[in-house]
Amino acid sequence: MKVTDHFKAANGETLISFEILPPLKGGSIQKIFDILDPLMEFNPPFIDVTYHREEFIYKKRDSGYFEKVAVRKRPGTVGICAALINRYGVDAVPHLICGGFTIEETEDALIDLKFLGIDNVLVLRGDARKFDAKFEPERNGHAYALDLVNQVKGMNDGVYLDSTIINAEPSNFCIGIAGYPEKHFEAPNIGSDMHFLKKKIDAGADYIVTQMFFDNKKYFDFVDLCRKNGINVPIVPGLKPITKKYQLNSLPRMFHLDLPADLAKAILEAKDAEARRQVGIEWCVAQSKELKAAGVPCLHYYTMGDVKTIKEIVQQVY
Ligand code: FAD
Repeated sequence: MKVTDHFKAANGETLISFEILPPLKGGSIQKIFDILDPLMEFNPPFIDVTYHREEFIYKKRDSGYFEKVAVRKRPGTVGICAALINRYGVDAVPHLICGGFTIEETEDALIDLKFLGIDNVLVLRGDARKFDAKFEPERNGHAYALDLVNQVKGMNDGVYLDSTIINAEPSNFCIGIAGYPEKHFEAPNIGSDMHFLKKKIDAGADYIVTQMFFDNKKYFDFVDLCRKNGINVPIVPGLKPITKKYQLNSLPRMFHLDLPADLAKAILEAKDAEARRQVGIEWCVAQSKELKAAGVPCLHYYTMGDVKTIKEIVQQVY
C-alpha cells in the first residue's frame, strides 16, 4: 500500500513510522529484527530503510603507498525491505539515491522493487562521498533528486529507457522526497531550496519527509512556507532524540541544524549518561506530543539503532 494511502486511511490520526539503517557488512538480519520486534506494538504502517553509497577508504600497501579503495559498508537495503514485508506484513520504503547509480542501474533497481511488490520509494540525491569535496554523480547518473523523481515518474507512466520496448507495464510507486526545515546546507537561501522542492513536487513527488529538527517552530514555519509556495502534499516530521554529549557537536555538523540553547544546556548539565538520555527523551516526547496535537500525518523516528530510547519515547506518545 502507498504511504499516502496510509495517511488517507488514518483519517486525520497521526501515524508512527520508523527509519532503520542496514547493519554493517557482515552483520545479520537478526540485528534489524532485534530493533524492530519491540517497536511493532506501535503498528507502524511503513518502515524506511536507508541506502548507503560506496565510500572511499585508503589502504596502506606493503610498498608503503596508499591505495584508494571503494567499499560499501552497509549494503542490503532491498533485501531488508523484502525481509520486513515477509516478517511483519508492513510496507517497506527503500531509500533510492542518485549517487553510485547510472540511470540504467536505477531502472534495474526500480524493476527489482516493482517485482518485490514494493509500492514506495524515498527518492534522494545522496551526500558527497567521504573525501570528495562535493557530490559527484556517476558519469551517466542523476545529479539531483529531481532527475530521479522524473525517472520514477516516467516508469509510473510506462516509459522505460529503452524506447523500443512496447506495451511496458507501468510501475505505480508512491514517491517520497526529503525536505529541510533548516534549509539544505548547499542551498544559498531558503527561497532557492523551496524553489527546487516545489520542482520535485511538480514532477510527481507525493509526500515529504523532513530532516530531523529539535525546535518544532522550524517545522511549522517550513510547512507554512511550503503551503505559501503551493506545496500541498503531506509533510512528515522526522524526529531523533539527542542522548549523548558528543551529539551536541556531531548532529549540527552532520545534519546542518541548530540545537536549541535550553536543550544544549540541559544535556551539558545532566549529571551522567543516563540523565542525559532522559533529557533527550523528555525533549523528543514534548516535540512529538506538540506535533501530534497539531495533526501531523505521521511521526517518523530515526532509530539509528537505539531501540530502547525510541521505544520509551513512543510509549509516552502513542
Ligand atoms: P536534492 O533535492 O537534489 O537537493 C540537493 C541540493 O541541490 C539542495 O541544496 C537543493 O536546493 C539543490 N537543488 C536541487 N535541485 C537542483 C537543481 N535542479 N539545480 C540546482 N540546485 C538544485 N542520504 C543517503 O545517502 N541515503 C539515505 O538513505 C538518506 N536518507 C535520507 C532521508 C531523509 C528524510 C533526509 C532528509 C535525508 C536523507 N539522506 C540520505 C541525505 C540526503 O541524501 C542529503 O541531504 C543530500 O545532500 C540531499 O538530498 P536531496 O534528495 O534533498 O537532494
